[in-house]
Amino acid sequence: MAPPCNGLEEATGNSEGDIVREAILIDGKAFAERIRQDIRDDVAALRRDYALTPGLAVILVGEDPASSIYVRNKGEQTRAAGMQSFAHHLPAETSQNDLLHLINQLNDDNRVHGILVQLPLPGHVDTQAVLAAILPEKDVDGFHVINAGQLAVGQPALTPCTPLGCLMLLHDHLGSLRGKRALVIGRSTIVGRPMAQLLLTADCTVTIAHRYSTDLPSLCSEADIVVAAVGIPELVKGAWLKPSAVVIDVGINRVPARDPELAAQGKTRIVGDVAFEEARQIAGAITPVPGGVGPMTIACLLHNTVKAAKATLSRRNTGFRAA
Ligand code: NAD
Repeated sequence: MAPPCNGLEEATGNSEGDIVREAILIDGKAFAERIRQDIRDDVAALRRDYALTPGLAVILVGEDPASSIYVRNKGEQTRAAGMQSFAHHLPAETSQNDLLHLINQLNDDNRVHGILVQLPLPGHVDTQAVLAAILPEKDVDGFHVINAGQLAVGQPALTPCTPLGCLMLLHDHLGSLRGKRALVIGRSTIVGRPMAQLLLTADCTVTIAHRYSTDLPSLCSEADIVVAAVGIPELVKGAWLKPSAVVIDVGINRVPARDPELAAQGKTRIVGDVAFEEARQIAGAITPVPGGVGPMTIACLLHNTVKAAKATLSRRNTGFRAA
C-alpha cells in the first residue's frame, strides 16, 4: 500500500497493544511523478502552441560513476518529458578553455534553454569560472551569482533544484508557511543557503545552523520545520524534535548494512541526516530516505528548464506568461 502523503496519520499498535501515532510520510517519489506529469502537459502545450521544444544540455567532465548515473537519469527523464536532451561527455583532462568554449556555444544555441554542468569538476578546472560562464537565463541549476543574488533579494530567479523540491514538498503538506519557525541545518550554496532564502521569502522565521552552531538540540526543539542538509548519518535525533514538526531530510549517506553478515561482505544502505525511526515517533511529518527529497531534484531540474524555455517566449513578447 502506498504510504499516506497528505492528511492521514499512520496508527500502529506497539507490543503493549497501545496505539502509537507515527509521522505522516511525505512521499517525494509520488509528488515528483505528479510534477513530471504537469511538465509533460506543459511541454506538449509549448510544442503545440508555440512550436517550442524545451532543451536541456548536460555537461559531464570525466567518468565519475555516481555523476555518470545522475547524468544518464537526467537525460532519460528529459526525453520522457518530451524535451530535447543534449549530452556532452568530455574526457577528464578537458581544459578549462575548451569547457568554456562549449558553454559559449550552448549559450548561443537557441535549441538549448537550460545548461547544467555536473559537479564536481576535475581539480584543474575553476568551478566558479565555469558556473559564471553560463548565461543566467539558462542556469537551470540556479548556481550563477546572478540567480543566487536575485533569490537573496526576493526577486524571481532560477532556483537550485534540491531546495526548490523541498519547498514544494513543504507547501504541498502545510499549505502556507507564513509565520512558521524553520531551522535549516547546513549552509552550502547548493542546499542550505538557498533553502533558507526560499523559506524567508515564504514568510518563515528562519534559523540557519552549521558546523560551528552550538546546541543544535535546542534549535531543533523550537522549529516547526526542520530541513537537514548536512551529510552526517542520522545526526538529528528524534528527541530533539518539537512534537508535530515537519522534517525534510536532504541527506544521502551510505552506511554499513544493518545485517552484520551483509555488512561484513561490504554491503551498504542509504540513510539520511535524521534518525528516521526515532524521528517518525515524534514528528508530524517526515520525508523518508530514500524516496523523499531525492526524486524531487531531477523533477525540479525539468521544471526549471520549462520555466527557462517559457521565459524566452516572454522575452520575445508574444504575450505568453512564464509560470
Ligand atoms: P556540504 O558538505 O556542502 O554542506 C554541509 C553543511 O553541513 C555545511 O554547511 C556544514 O557547515 C554543515 N555541518 C557540518 N557538520 C555539522 C554539524 N555537526 N551540525 C550542523 N551543521 C553541520 O553538503 P551539501 O552539498 O549541502 O549536502 C548535504 C547532504 O545533502 C549530503 O548528504 C548530500 O549527499 C545531500 N544532498 C542530497 C541531494 C538530493 O537530491 N537529495 C542534493 C544535494 C545534496
